[in-house]
Amino acid sequence: MIFELLTLFPALCDSPFADSILGKAVDKGLIDISAHNLRDWAEGRHKITDDTPYGGGDGMVLKPEPVAKALDDLRSSGPRPRVLLMTPQGVPFRQHHAQQLAKEERLVFVCGRYEGFDERIRTLVDDEFSIGDFVLTGGELAAMVMIDAVARLVPGVLGSSGSAVSDSHADGLLEHPHYTRPATFRDMAVPDVLLSGNHGAIERWRRREQLRRTLQRRPDLLEKAVLSEQDQRWLEE
Ligand code: SAM
Repeated sequence: MIFELLTLFPALCDSPFADSILGKAVDKGLIDISAHNLRDWAEGRHKITDDTPYGGGDGMVLKPEPVAKALDDLRSSGPRPRVLLMTPQGVPFRQHHAQQLAKEERLVFVCGRYEGFDERIRTLVDDEFSIGDFVLTGGELAAMVMIDAVARLVPGVLGSSGSAVSDSHADGLLEHPHYTRPATFRDMAVPDVLLSGNHGAIERWRRREQLRRTLQRRPDLLEKAVLSEQDQRWLEE
C-alpha cells in the first residue's frame, strides 16, 4: 500500500517510520511511505505556496494552484489515490476509518500549514479528516498518526508480533487488560484464571473485562457496539 504526504516540510515525515514494525513493513515492500514537497509545484522564481487572506487577518493561507497541480500530477500516474485533507474541521478519525482506508491501494495526505488553506482546496480532495478537537501547527503529524493507524492494518504488517483484531476500538469496545511475568508485582497478583491454562475460561474472562472496562471508561462506546445476549447479561451483573 502506498502512502504519500503533500507537504511544505517533507523532512518532517521521514524519521517516524524508519524503525519498528512500520520500518520493517517498508523494508519488506508491504507499504511505501514518501513525502512530496508542495513547493515543487509552485511557480515563479520564489516558488510561493502561500499568500495573505482576502479580507485581512493574521497568518498566511496555502494557495490553491500548487495543490491542484500536485494532485493532478499524482492522480495522473500510478494507482488512483484517495486524497485526504488534514484539517481540524474534518470528520473525526476513528478506527473504523482506519479499517476502511487500509483497503485502499494508495492514499495521499494533503497537509495544511499556517492559518490553513484556501477554501477551494476542499473541492480537490476526496475526504477531510481531523485527528482530534485541538489545533496542530501543521497537517504532517496528523497525517502520520493516520498512516500509523492504517498501515498496521495492512495484511502482513503486524506479522506474528501482534494482532489488530482484539485491539481497543477494533470491535467498538476497549481491549481487556494484559499481564506478563512476574505473577506477583508489588503485592498485585495476576488473575488466577490467566494462569489456569483453561482457554475457554480465559476467553470468557477477557470478554467480561472488555465489557467492564468499556463501561467504566467509555460508556458512550457501548451505545454503538454490537453485543450478544451474553454480553448484555454480563453488563447488567
Ligand atoms: N485556522 C485553522 C482552523 O482553525 O481550522 C487551523 C490551521 S492549523 C494551525 C494548520 C494546519 O494544521 C491545518 O490546515 C491542518 O492541515 C493541520 N491541522 C491542525 N490541527 C489538525 C487536526 N486536529 N487534525 C488534522 N489536521 C490538523
